[in-house]
Amino acid sequence: MTRTSRLTSFLVLFFASVGAIGQADTLLTNVHLVDIDTGDTAEAQSLLIRDGMISATGTDIAAEDVEVIDGAGGYLIPGLWDSHVHIFSSPTEPDTALPLYLINGITGIRDMGALWPITEQQALQERIETGEVLGPRLVLSGAWVDATPGSWPGMFLADTPDQAGEVVDQIAAEGWAAVKSYSMLDEATFLALAEAAAMRDLPLVGHIPERVALLTSIAAGQDGMEHFGRIPMACSTNEQRMISELRDAMADGTGQARLFEIMASRNRIILETWDADLCTGVLDAMAETSLHVSPTLVVANFYLGNWPDEDTPQMQMLPAAVREAWGEPDFRLAAMTDEVRALAEDSIALDRQTFLMAHDAGVPILASSDASFANPYLFHGFSLLDELDIYVAAGLTPREALATSTVFPPRFFGLNDQDGTIAPGRRADLVLLDANPLEGLETLRDPRAVIVRGVVLERSELETMRQQLLAAGE
Ligand SMILES: [Zn+2]
Repeated sequence: MTRTSRLTSFLVLFFASVGAIGQADTLLTNVHLVDIDTGDTAEAQSLLIRDGMISATGTDIAAEDVEVIDGAGGYLIPGLWDSHVHIFSSPTEPDTALPLYLINGITGIRDMGALWPITEQQALQERIETGEVLGPRLVLSGAWVDATPGSWPGMFLADTPDQAGEVVDQIAAEGWAAVKSYSMLDEATFLALAEAAAMRDLPLVGHIPERVALLTSIAAGQDGMEHFGRIPMACSTNEQRMISELRDAMADGTGQARLFEIMASRNRIILETWDADLCTGVLDAMAETSLHVSPTLVVANFYLGNWPDEDTPQMQMLPAAVREAWGEPDFRLAAMTDEVRALAEDSIALDRQTFLMAHDAGVPILASSDASFANPYLFHGFSLLDELDIYVAAGLTPREALATSTVFPPRFFGLNDQDGTIAPGRRADLVLLDANPLEGLETLRDPRAVIVRGVVLERSELETMRQQLLAAGE
């Protein structure tokens, strides 16, 4: 089956059971509006949605020709964002991923790279925006640039400063939202990439290359940073030594196995040489330049083997072929050493301590899961909620954790109709909850309703979507 027909068949199936795709205007009554920025709650409000946008809020709103929905005292928050996902790693991945995001209250995702050509990613984005496909808002930031041969298939490649400039020209021409740096770039090429991105007015997000120091990337103008590991490493008095070791090994043409070994040895070095004062300086520099961090702390679950049982809903909602692939030996686990395994608990504790320091220092955090069919046991939708739970476990309040998923992402992406507030002129991407999420995030696991581009999916409809995913996963 082709990509398009699969997607269409899913949607036909879905809409056959929940009714016509609605741009019906809605008056949602009797809801508490939660202000994530301030922590204030406006009680017993109504909210008018017209053409997919919030057109009014207040206690005394009347409207004609609208569907009235009684919110029954539920708590309304802006829809969640997952700022680091990969939904295009197989021809049919969006068929599963899009509904999984919606049933988990996630109405916006930033894709960070995969196999589909940009034109096909944009076509799906367009179908979501026109309401032809029901799914979260898509930001396409997957223009990843790496050194030859590329860590993943289909990457842009640059091995010299000149090539970096050419690649950025191409990325700009193709219409990507950002340039994504990747791990194996050399420093000169990376610096040229940063300069070219700035000239094109494209944000530079991505991995801090393995041979580049964190403060060097900040000085070069890095706007967004994917994953967290490079921060504890930059808090080590040995960061420069660790980078030099890898740089020398690569210059010598050392084989991949030795490079993995060098990188695996870093956990022990970081644990032994992490320095609080140094760390404070690094985090202050990050906060000052507003380097946005997508931590993906939930990825540790994969390395630790914290995998849900085969019969859990999040496993059963996946296509059988994906479950099977996840059971196969994985090259990332194979690269782990006994030492890394033995130190895992301490490393994770240090990550979380550094994460809390980063947050408290004012480093903007973008909640992120790295969910993908290509990343075993990282689940579209569910893993973002797990990530938020980790933030709270690390010491953030529920409000602070929610801000990383509702307030910071749309502002960082420069969206003009979304900023993490519930107000007229904002896109009607919302989640209605049974309980006040500022008192605990558990309520996110079972939304009363999810509203995406003004389309209201009530609990029964979300349940229908779950049942359809379960049936598709058989
Ligand atoms: Zn990723």
